[in-house]
Amino acid sequence: MTATILDGRALAQELRTATQTEIANLSTALGRAPGLAVVQVLGDAASTRYVRSIEKLCATLGAGFRLIALAPETTQAELEAHITALNADHEVDGILLQLPLPAPLNANAAIMQIDHRKDVDGVHPINAGLLAQGRDALVANTPAGGMELLRHYQIELRGKRAAVVGRSAIVGRPMAQLLIQADATVTVCHSRTPDLGAVLRECEIVCVAAGRPGLVTADMLRPGAVVVDFGTNVGADGSLVGDVDFAASAEVAGAITPVPGGTGPMTNVMLMRNLVAAAHTLHHL
Ligand code: NDP
Repeated sequence: MTATILDGRALAQELRTATQTEIANLSTALGRAPGLAVVQVLGDAASTRYVRSIEKLCATLGAGFRLIALAPETTQAELEAHITALNADHEVDGILLQLPLPAPLNANAAIMQIDHRKDVDGVHPINAGLLAQGRDALVANTPAGGMELLRHYQIELRGKRAAVVGRSAIVGRPMAQLLIQADATVTVCHSRTPDLGAVLRECEIVCVAAGRPGLVTADMLRPGAVVVDFGTNVGADGSLVGDVDFAASAEVAGAITPVPGGTGPMTNVMLMRNLVAAAHTLHHL
């Protein structure tokens, strides 16, 4: 293998330690720990596992954690009333609405109810809009983590050609905005993009968030390209695989994130960093 491995596990550990210190300082300034509230409509095992991992991380880093666990038959009005109450709660600095919501609940309408200053998941349209305008925003955790990896490994983005595969509101679009902000020239690809390889071969930076295992193959990469794989797919044998054919691509790329151990471990710690940022903004610190 010739590519540098962009080690998200190691960087996440480093950032956790730094964030723990920030939370301790914040707790002194506020006279209480910064608090995260998670709103979860019960029924999805993967979502419950994720919520537990966040609860554990809050405990480890010294942040407050509150779970609003709602029955699957919760109505839209009840869900939004919980969010409104958390907006007004002075001990809550961040609100995370666990997605996806079961039908017939409307996620977009629920997200609109979140006070955007407490939107630590970076999903509120005000935050997406601020990001699109290149202004300070609470940025979605997964792309923010990808950018942090690029920054840590001192990957030059200015003036580089970058491709983002995927245009979701939570990964692809914000990643494209962040790359634009970092002065890259960005192409966004999606399921209607003809000849993906032709686009990617033009690019020094390739970020993939499609949820399609093996979508990006080594022959689609320019030698030396930096590859950030956000894909999290469960393989036939139950193992976690990305969207990029890792083994062959690592022979062509200059640097690449592994799956697991790349972008995945970064997501939770970026959530905690957003909690710190939200508390600073809310309390004018
Ligand atoms: P979505 O399903 O919302 O979006 C997928 C995007 O990929 C869409 O824009 C879609 O295009 C595009 N796409 C699908 N097939 C192709 C194709 N053949 N060629 C080009 N583009 C294609 O997924 P998410 O953005 O939510 O997630 C993407 C991946 O990232 C998933 O594997 C998910 O598990 C992972 N993920 C990882 C996280 C982490 O912590 N690392 C966190 C969040 C997500 P179109 O718009 O045309 O449909």
